[in-house]
Amino acid sequence: MKPETKNFNLKSKETLLDPQIQENLSGLYGGFHSARIKASSDTADWEELQIKGREIKKHVINHLDQYLELLESNVISSGGHVHFAETAEDATQYVVKLAKKKGVKTVVKSKSMLSEEMSLNEELIKHGIDPYETDLGEYIVQLAEETPYHIIAPAIHKSRQEVSKLFADKIGTNHTENIETLTSEARDQLRDKFIQADMGITGGNFLVAETGTLALVSNEGNGRMCTSMPPIHVAIVGMEKIIPSMEDLGTFLRLLIRSATGQWISSYVTMISGPRESTDIDGPEEFHLVIVDNGRSKMLADPHLREALYCLRCGACLNACPVYRKVGGHSYGWVYPGPIGAIVSPILTGLSDAKDLPFASSLCGACKEACPVKIDIPRMLLYLRNQLAEGKNYPDQRSVGFLERVASKFMSSLLSSNKAVGFFLKAANLIATIAPFVRKPFPPSWTKSRESPTLAKKTFVDQWVSLDLDGSLRKKH
Ligand code: SF4
Repeated sequence: MKPETKNFNLKSKETLLDPQIQENLSGLYGGFHSARIKASSDTADWEELQIKGREIKKHVINHLDQYLELLESNVISSGGHVHFAETAEDATQYVVKLAKKKGVKTVVKSKSMLSEEMSLNEELIKHGIDPYETDLGEYIVQLAEETPYHIIAPAIHKSRQEVSKLFADKIGTNHTENIETLTSEARDQLRDKFIQADMGITGGNFLVAETGTLALVSNEGNGRMCTSMPPIHVAIVGMEKIIPSMEDLGTFLRLLIRSATGQWISSYVTMISGPRESTDIDGPEEFHLVIVDNGRSKMLADPHLREALYCLRCGACLNACPVYRKVGGHSYGWVYPGPIGAIVSPILTGLSDAKDLPFASSLCGACKEACPVKIDIPRMLLYLRNQLAEGKNYPDQRSVGFLERVASKFMSSLLSSNKAVGFFLKAANLIATIAPFVRKPFPPSWTKSRESPTLAKKTFVDQWVSLDLDGSLRKKH
């Protein structure tokens, strides 16, 4: 998927003015968001789970090289293949080459945000291979020739009326707004694809290092069919998805699923350790694990951003965010929207091209509060804003001009001195007696969407001193 992160402001405006999308998005708060709050408050040890999950993630990310080696050796000893891909292109080439070598014509896919990073479907099509998304939301988005809108609910922006029209136009179904009928139509279409498929491609929610196991969480069963029906299974997984042990998987399944959908446990949790064995009744003959970096090592190398790699991709921060719930997923212009996307996308695609994303936040902290592993998203957003202005760690990505930086430095030293502020306020008040507009100093472009504060005739300190309060209090000033 080509990054279009430069268009955030324009796309946001379009979404804000679209009443249909606003109505579709309004369901997020009462839906996923409320369900998460209920599930977490019903879990007696939720706080302990969060702390434990965060500690495990911190440990793994700090020892990523060792865990990746352990994972690799366990996958290979179970009969699987492992490929480390430095870039999205490298990962795509591996999958395409393998598909061509094996004569693959049809691929069934379960939801994978990483495959969007890789533009995998486009590449497969270029080589004459037909990819079919089998998650219902992804299937809708693929039919609409769009990209996912939300990490766990890719078609959240579409109403049932829109889906009904889409199905009628693209797959010739009768018009119906009955969700069960629409789902059943999609199931009928996809059933044949599962049977025809020569290759199944999935993402992965977790990679268990001690056993070489891939864990997949889903509610539709499509993930399990993608991994068990075609003769070849390829899993493409970001390198941050690794966890040490099966015991840790128990912790993370609870954290992920309750934060994502508010369910106690999802309908399917599939665990795959290598290809089928001679005694297995189903499963693929070949299992390939592609572990992808594609810029993640930049986050690993920056201690200020490293904790972004703890992300479980549960989507809770999106549902909690008052900005995401208004501007929607496509405004962010790349695979990962919402608060965590405003950190990940600029680092993976280029900070200066995504310079509006770190500012797409009111810094209210709802994202951090919702996060199952307590990722401090507001702190990282502020860090990226600072990098865009000061550029000490990313000097070539600076997007603030020389004059603005000098003006900001001047204002910063001015505002940190009580005396200087007092002096300037008095001077401004004096000037305002001759030129009253000075009392409302902000230009119309600034006040179009916010109120201009009016310069007080007397500073707070002057008002305080002139109050007839206890003499000792006044003396202190
Ligand atoms: S940052 Fe936290 S809340 Fe947001 S998707 Fe990742 S794990 Fe979920």
